[in-house]
Amino acid sequence: MWREILLHLESAGFEAYIVGGRIRNSLLGLTEDQKSPWDADIATSALPDQVKAVFSGYPVIETGIKHGTVTVLTPEPMEITTFRKDGTYSDGRHPDSVDFCTSIEEDLSRRDFTVNAIAMDARGKITDPFDGISDINNGILRTVGNANERFREDPLRIFRGLRFAAVLCQTDSHSAFTIDENTAKAMFENRMLLKGVSAERLYAEFSKLVGGAFAGNVIRKYTEIIGVVIPPLLTMKGFNQRNPYHRYDVLEHCIRAMEYTEDNYCLKLAALFHDVGKPETFFLDDEGIGHMYGHPAAGERIFRGIMSDLKADRATTDRVAALIKYHDIVFQKDKTLLKRWMNRYTPEMLLDILSIKEADNIATGNAGSDLIDKFHEIRRMIHEILDEKECFTLKDLAVSGSDLINEGMAPGPELGETLNKLLELVIEGRVDNNRDALLKAIFRS
Ligand code: ATP
Ligand code: MG
Repeated sequence: MWREILLHLESAGFEAYIVGGRIRNSLLGLTEDQKSPWDADIATSALPDQVKAVFSGYPVIETGIKHGTVTVLTPEPMEITTFRKDGTYSDGRHPDSVDFCTSIEEDLSRRDFTVNAIAMDARGKITDPFDGISDINNGILRTVGNANERFREDPLRIFRGLRFAAVLCQTDSHSAFTIDENTAKAMFENRMLLKGVSAERLYAEFSKLVGGAFAGNVIRKYTEIIGVVIPPLLTMKGFNQRNPYHRYDVLEHCIRAMEYTEDNYCLKLAALFHDVGKPETFFLDDEGIGHMYGHPAAGERIFRGIMSDLKADRATTDRVAALIKYHDIVFQKDKTLLKRWMNRYTPEMLLDILSIKEADNIATGNAGSDLIDKFHEIRRMIHEILDEKECFTLKDLAVSGSDLINEGMAPGPELGETLNKLLELVIEGRVDNNRDALLKAIFRS
């Protein structure tokens, strides 16, 4: 589709190229996943009004018209940006101006990393003035131009660099990208400038970082940088739990838990911060053993603080905060207990808590195969309860409030209590979940 867009612009007398992530990904040998299509970033010599005129037959959103960007709904949305030479990016604070320019080379020179500064026209002709292709082949992340200057111009690029290091993978060797030494040094030296970047921009990059295949190593290696934005990571680093059950410091333990969890953003985030409350609640007993009572609740509070500073969305915050709050519940291979918890937490939530708990145990470095088997068995039991449609909520109960009223009970709080008692009897297996048995259980007593 983007090819037609380029041709359309060309036939109107303008230059047009595909740039950014899509071309980087295809040079990496990746194939587009239909479920999460790559966005198409297009650079053109046409000015925004000219772009609008060329695509007058389509709806156009003036996404960032001040910065030269319009989105054409063709029907896939295409972001089309006029060649720019300025290096300032909107940080939500400074009103930034843009200078348009006439050549693709100049446009590429304001882009952040060499791997992102490659352009391709409709016929597949590549423009690569900063040797981005060679950096892609060698797995290197390097800024376009002087790293210090580029990070001072827009410090978000520091976070973007870490995001790319976490996400990009050399397809043939399955190895991570390395941040070039100079670039890494400049990231470190300019890290305090991240404090001036808007929370929304930082969170957009951080959330992609966490989902990256190499997120663990990036967080390990660049804790001091990410810690400028998320200070609790600095407290977690090197924090010795003084507990024979734990081999690693809090941060290493949490990173290992995150690496172990499946590819699910909320789970990864919860695993990364599940013990964030430990340093605060730590105390040593008389034997010199460390304890951290109440750390899940403290962790929940600290995590909510992190997410509110990042202006993250409510749904993710609440979901992950709950996982942190409940990550310490002790699972047993006991269907009665599991049903009570499925009722209390919902089955989906309970399965997620179980995943965090499993990752937590594995990440201590002390988990044996019997423990892993226990988690598999518990997961199987929860699925069995669901598959067999066993009763674990009031909704599943064979009598309802109105049934009890029909039998002569007065409406009111007592009615609710009675229903809950019945549910508990059914969950415990003491009464069958059928109308007669349930009514008998109440009116007999
Ligand atoms: P993806 O879309 O896969 O997340 P991307 O590289 O396309 O990655 P975008 O945020 O879509 O990232 O940006 C498109 C392109 O715009 C980048 O490849 C880069 O060339 C340029 N760019 C984006 N943000 C910046 C920035 N802060 N500084 C300099 N160039 C940037
Ligand atoms: Mg993109």
